[in-house]
Amino acid sequence: MRKKMMTLTIAGAMVLSASPFMSPAVGAVGNGPAYGGNETINTSILTTYDEMADFLQTQEAKQKNMELEVIGQSIKGRDLYLVKYVINPENPTILFLTQQHGNEQLTTEGALEFIKHLGTGKMKGVTDGVNILIVPMLNPDGAMGDVNFSLDDYIAKGDRNLTRYNADGIDLNRDHITKIQPETKAFHENVMRKYDIDYMIDLHHQGTQSERDGELVSGSILYPTTPNVDPDVLLKSKQLGAVVFDAIDSKGWGHLGKYRGGNAETISRNGIAVEYGISTLLFEMRGMSDHSYESYVLGQKSNGYLIQQTITTLDATVRAIADDSIEDADISFWDTLSYQENRTSE
Ligand SMILES: [Zn+2]
Repeated sequence: MRKKMMTLTIAGAMVLSASPFMSPAVGAVGNGPAYGGNETINTSILTTYDEMADFLQTQEAKQKNMELEVIGQSIKGRDLYLVKYVINPENPTILFLTQQHGNEQLTTEGALEFIKHLGTGKMKGVTDGVNILIVPMLNPDGAMGDVNFSLDDYIAKGDRNLTRYNADGIDLNRDHITKIQPETKAFHENVMRKYDIDYMIDLHHQGTQSERDGELVSGSILYPTTPNVDPDVLLKSKQLGAVVFDAIDSKGWGHLGKYRGGNAETISRNGIAVEYGISTLLFEMRGMSDHSYESYVLGQKSNGYLIQQTITTLDATVRAIADDSIEDADISFWDTLSYQENRTSE
């Protein structure tokens, strides 16, 4: 029964991924509808935690290069997963982290699709040159709305509400120094300290109304901005951003701004760059899966291109690291890329 539901969900995600490309309005998809009180936002189409776990176990059985590891448990006892493709430990390693914030799910949907691609001929040979680590859905309790506080004022309809916080109402992406929460503790003890990681992309979703140069963005990116970051780590972070920008901004649906982020090392973009000397990139995609604020939640018509945005990001960066082309990435675009601004509502 579970397996059947999983198949349907993945098939649903594929249909969603495909749909924007068949639409004549593809160029305008960055301007896809926000909630506005009458958009459809149904969380039943999103992969549940159990469906994800089944999917990962199925993929591990199918893919000879993939290894699945449980790195710990959430507050409510859900296993936290690490997906590994490590053929040669000498190769450079990139880590993708999704859904520290439980209501930012399309990044996980994209990561699962990418994991499936890694088992197909499409990605043949790529993992010979790069090690890939993926931590999907670090906050499963928030993603399933299984939390110790009320979500009654959340907007989405469907079988569950999704929230930013973990079960105890803590923001995991403010816990990267203290590492008190079981999710962040497991992440640091069993991923960050155990593997020799060179690059990390931390995938999130932001509100719906950010624009760059007068056009709503499909997302925004930023490198570590703490003054304590090593210059070489910063350079490689900017190169990682260049690979992502080149891959995304050229797409009809892609339009990226520079994220306006702070210097706090409690957040992963800064803290991990300093503590482990890892080059990091924050990627904030447009619109959350659920929230109590209308302007943060995006209608599900935009799901297809946002899932594709994650897949394209993961695909482009692993290829650029595998063939070393990331080392020639031109970082000068960062000097002219405008910060996104919040569009003022009418
Ligand atoms: Zn987030």
